[in-house]
Amino acid sequence: MKSIPAGRDSRTVAGTNLEHARAHNRRAVIETIRLNGQLTRAEVARLTALTPQTVSNIAAELLDGGMLLAGEPMREGARGQPAIPLSINPDGAYSLGIQLDTQSLIAVAVDLAGQCRARVEAPVQRPDPQLALPLIEEVVGRLRTDSGIDWGRVLGLGLVMPGPFGVEGMSSVGPTTLPGWEEVDAAAQLERRLDLPVLLEKDATAAAIGERLYGRAAALRNFVYLFIGAGLGAGLFLDGRLYAGVRHNAGEIGHMIVMPDGRPCDCGNHGCLERYVSLRALYETLGLADDAELAARSLERPTPEICYGMERWLATAAPPLRQAINILESLLDIEAVVIGGFLPQALLEQLEQRLHPLPGSIRQSCGPRVLLGSAGRDTVALGAAALPIFDEFNPQYEVLLKV
Ligand SMILES: [Zn+2]
Repeated sequence: MKSIPAGRDSRTVAGTNLEHARAHNRRAVIETIRLNGQLTRAEVARLTALTPQTVSNIAAELLDGGMLLAGEPMREGARGQPAIPLSINPDGAYSLGIQLDTQSLIAVAVDLAGQCRARVEAPVQRPDPQLALPLIEEVVGRLRTDSGIDWGRVLGLGLVMPGPFGVEGMSSVGPTTLPGWEEVDAAAQLERRLDLPVLLEKDATAAAIGERLYGRAAALRNFVYLFIGAGLGAGLFLDGRLYAGVRHNAGEIGHMIVMPDGRPCDCGNHGCLERYVSLRALYETLGLADDAELAARSLERPTPEICYGMERWLATAAPPLRQAINILESLLDIEAVVIGGFLPQALLEQLEQRLHPLPGSIRQSCGPRVLLGSAGRDTVALGAAALPIFDEFNPQYEVLLKV
């Protein structure tokens, strides 16, 4: 296949197990159709560099399984067989996404097209596992009833909680983390309770995957997603794949020091990026750090005083963020930095405008260097729901190359 990265030598590919190759090709066909909306078999064959016969077999299997829909035949010129356009069947599969944070639990059920089919929200107060696990079970039951979807077609559940995971001295500090989860295998416990595959991710990573599946980053192979939540995290998408890091903690960019001797951080250092670029930093500037709920409401309908505070925050957030973008571009040679998260859309747009002019870097041409991603309360829950779909359908080269 053409799409195998150059540099993988033929010796490794020769060891490929046929089962893996079939699974990979199936994913490549689905992903290609998904990204293009609608394609004929001939177009799929051209774009995936698979043989027409292979595409035909896979398409037949996917049509049979209800994953694809066949459209009205299109006649291509005077000669030849009419071509049938294939598209993804939104009802071919479903996925659940849950975002659990210090104050709320948001749960969604989505279809293959990324449309939300049911949504449940429940307030929580820094929930520990004893409280959260039964609550998640109950909420999933409500999603099942409310959505009315074919439960047999649910691929799994994506669960997002604040990271970082399992880093002593970092994960268990600060108001943006949850207590009591250090020793708990949340995914395994939920799999037992729900009888569904469960994928656990950080908010930034899930939002990045959501953006790659359905959003602004659909066409990008190399990007960093900066997620402005209570803190600041990054999802690293490199060479078409998510980069997780050795201990699954890649992208904890919030604790990158941008101002030596700057504001103190819960991690013990000074001048960390998220002390300037995060909801928490914004709320502190507004004098509302102790009441996040009131702060969130104030942002929706800002008084002149809040507007003034937002201006002051933008002035302190933009310079370190600009610096971080310069570092990411210089380090990773990415196509773009996508910024999204829980900020109100209008404020996110203002922040983006304040970033320009960006410092010069190796990234000089080909499209915008900064893109605005999804914003708003459901961004992470929808990203969480994208995890099982991504896991099921994204062609991953390691799978193919496994011997
Ligand atoms: Zn820090």
